[in-house]
Amino acid sequence: MRLTRYFLPVTKETPADAQIVSHQLMLRAGLIRQTAAGIYAWLPLGFRVLNRIEQIVREEQDRAGAIELLMPTIQSADLWRQSGRYDAYGPEMLRFPDRKGTEMLYGPTNEEMITQIFLGSVKSYRDLPRTLYHIQWKFRDEVRPRFGIMRGREFLMKDAYSFDLDEDGLKASYEAMFVAYLRTFARLGLQAVPVKAPTGPIGGDLSHEFHILAETGESAIFYDAALEDISRDELLSADAATIARLTSLYAMEEEEHAKVAECPVPAERLRSRRGIEVGHIFAFGTKYSASMGLSVQTADGTSLHPQMGSYGVGVSRLMGAIIEASHDSSGIVWPESVAPFRVGLINMRADDAKVTSAADDIYSRLQNAGVDTLYDDRDERGGAKFASMDLIGLPWQLIVGPRGLERGVVELKNRATGEREELSLESALARLTA
Ligand code: ATP
Ligand code: MG
Repeated sequence: MRLTRYFLPVTKETPADAQIVSHQLMLRAGLIRQTAAGIYAWLPLGFRVLNRIEQIVREEQDRAGAIELLMPTIQSADLWRQSGRYDAYGPEMLRFPDRKGTEMLYGPTNEEMITQIFLGSVKSYRDLPRTLYHIQWKFRDEVRPRFGIMRGREFLMKDAYSFDLDEDGLKASYEAMFVAYLRTFARLGLQAVPVKAPTGPIGGDLSHEFHILAETGESAIFYDAALEDISRDELLSADAATIARLTSLYAMEEEEHAKVAECPVPAERLRSRRGIEVGHIFAFGTKYSASMGLSVQTADGTSLHPQMGSYGVGVSRLMGAIIEASHDSSGIVWPESVAPFRVGLINMRADDAKVTSAADDIYSRLQNAGVDTLYDDRDERGGAKFASMDLIGLPWQLIVGPRGLERGVVELKNRATGEREELSLESALARLTA
């Protein structure tokens, strides 16, 4: 993509209304634009990152055996009356009538809808277990939308729902999602701490939240320092044994921690940090299947209500969490897995025909090799170009200037380490296309 044809409104000024660094950087780097309180447009660069995050989430759901579908954003109030949640949900739910006066709502989550879909088509134990998921916009009329997309009113969520015949099946579905979450966050370059979450009146002990450690996180968590020692490789190859080990280590949100009479972790190993909740998994049993009348025939001819779980990931919130975890004083430092472009190609002298023809040539070679490249072909000072490239945080910068070209070299800069290297054009291209 040529910058002279792109839409990338970057700014030098730190927006006054943005309190945390990820929000500031998202505005400055032209990733998002607020259109109403807690509601954002995803500008082209931000939309590319959102799609990358979404795709990693999707791949790990698929790998775990979950099946993708797409449910609508708008739901009917009657559906929610069946589970009894219409009145229970409160003012976070956006409610409105359609032209006929039928009460509608913008979905904050989809347990009722997926149960209704099952109700119409699943009759036999042979149809279970199944886990279905979708990646869809949600609306919650948060009292205090803040920190940009971190706590928005409209936000993108992956929500999965599992249906099993018995509690052992539910536990297996829950563990498959747990593994998917560990792998997802590791691939996004994040270290996530699984925190035991309260299950409320439904009971059971199967609920975990996944928190990314960051000073700006809204939750306070207490955990065993051993949780910090889990390596990325271990997360990527996680299995039931990994989960058993991770969940045996102490990790609680402040409120729950305060209720613990005697903390099992010795003081020197107890960490207290702030966290951003990026995922929440929850096994709730027959709450919706029983209230909405979903039953299946068992092998011996009786019938039962399937055991269910639901599993959310804050896809849009993840972008904020990634930036909180990976930035420096010059801007964002995208992990390669979600970077909007892999390479930022900088033409230092757009007014010099020789330099421009060399840079154009490199650009087409990168494109032909399938390397996502943002080409700064603007006629601007080098300093301004460096500053905006650093701000938007692409993993590699390839700098083409007149002095280097005379010696047959270009400069390759690694955004994360700041290392710069002079290379022949061919070896630079070889490195970037490898
Ligand atoms: P929170 O405690 O942050 O309000 P929640 O417990 O209400 O979240 P869930 O219902 O568990 O959220 O939703 C699943 C995931 O969706 C959360 O883990 C979070 O990552 C994301 N999420 C929830 N609310 C928002 C929001 N207002 N803006 C962005 N992401 C959100
Ligand atoms: Mg939650």
